[in-house]
Amino acid sequence: MKIVLEHLTKKFISRRDKNEIVTAVNDFDFEIPDGKLVGLLGPSGCGKSTTLNLICGLETPTSGKIFFGDLDVTNLPPENRGVGMVFQNYALYPHLSVRDNILFPLQNLKGADKLSKEEMEKRAMEAARIVSIDELMARKPSELSGGQQQRVAIARALVKTPGVLLLDEPLSNLDARLRLQTREQIRRIQKETGITTIFVTHDQEEAMSISDLIIVMKSGILQQIGKPQEVYNDPVNLFVARFLGNPAINVFDGYIKDHKVYIGEDVVGERDAEDQEVSIGIRPEAFIPDEKGPFRCVFDRVETTGRDTSIVCHNEKCTSDEDVRAIVSADEKLNHEDGIIRFSLKPYKVHVFSKEDERVIR
Ligand code: ATP
Repeated sequence: MKIVLEHLTKKFISRRDKNEIVTAVNDFDFEIPDGKLVGLLGPSGCGKSTTLNLICGLETPTSGKIFFGDLDVTNLPPENRGVGMVFQNYALYPHLSVRDNILFPLQNLKGADKLSKEEMEKRAMEAARIVSIDELMARKPSELSGGQQQRVAIARALVKTPGVLLLDEPLSNLDARLRLQTREQIRRIQKETGITTIFVTHDQEEAMSISDLIIVMKSGILQQIGKPQEVYNDPVNLFVARFLGNPAINVFDGYIKDHKVYIGEDVVGERDAEDQEVSIGIRPEAFIPDEKGPFRCVFDRVETTGRDTSIVCHNEKCTSDEDVRAIVSADEKLNHEDGIIRFSLKPYKVHVFSKEDERVIR
């Protein structure tokens, strides 16, 4: 099911000050294609949950419209939208078995939607199979791991064969290992069912690793939508560049003069733009240690963690952190005589942003 948001806006009266209006979702106007897994990503309070609540009908928009396919669902009640919803706290009924938890939404269907007992059992078994918990149907939630409980919650959302599946921070209650496993499961479940799925997280790595598309938002405003790698490689502004990537992008104060991009006296790129002050983002993997390289930093130390070797150094123009972090191959020979290390830079990993509005200068 394709989802179309048309100038969708949601305003709230601020919880802190009754005279203040908070725009949680500001003029969202984009399309989520059918059958994709979409990661909705942004810092706390940027409007992710509000967006999901608008799509499933728990919130009414202040203005704008929502379409599922060609159908305008803006004024449809949640139960008529065909949306499955999974929340962070899986909220299973503790006194019911896994089987009865999954059956629960079907037992409440009324009128023409009412199903026979056999059909309900069949649907519950199918949903349990998809999330790989069909062996655990007789257990109570307390006898399951967090990851298994979350999968029961997903099965319960799938059992009504929704056209759209919404997952609100589904992994945040799980420990690191289970998070990894469960996110792979979510990817597999989504591929198997082909249901258009929106998955909310504030963890960029999580969103990047399993999504077909990511939507990055900030303060209720859409920043960028695209394939994870495309957004990472070509951020539209400094916020997106900073938000994606671990370790984070290194940011420096610099300037453009005669089409050359400078950090201090070092030329780190070229741009066809007017002379101006800029911010320059350099991805950690952009650095190549090179005795003749143009970019100089003060060498601090080398850190090796598993596969990666990081060179930690300093540059007085760096604004992102005290350290500049360069990830290099472990067998790279390093020359840092006099305490200075020189790098050449992969040009496509160096991003230049206007100081005025933080938009990228390509
Ligand atoms: P988090 O990651 O912390 O869950 P979020 O990105 O999901 O955050 P929302 O919960 O959608 O953000 O909130 C967006 C903004 O709208 C916040 O400033 C929040 O305080 C405000 N907000 C959300 N719901 C209401 C409400 N019912 N009444 C007033 N303000 C609200």
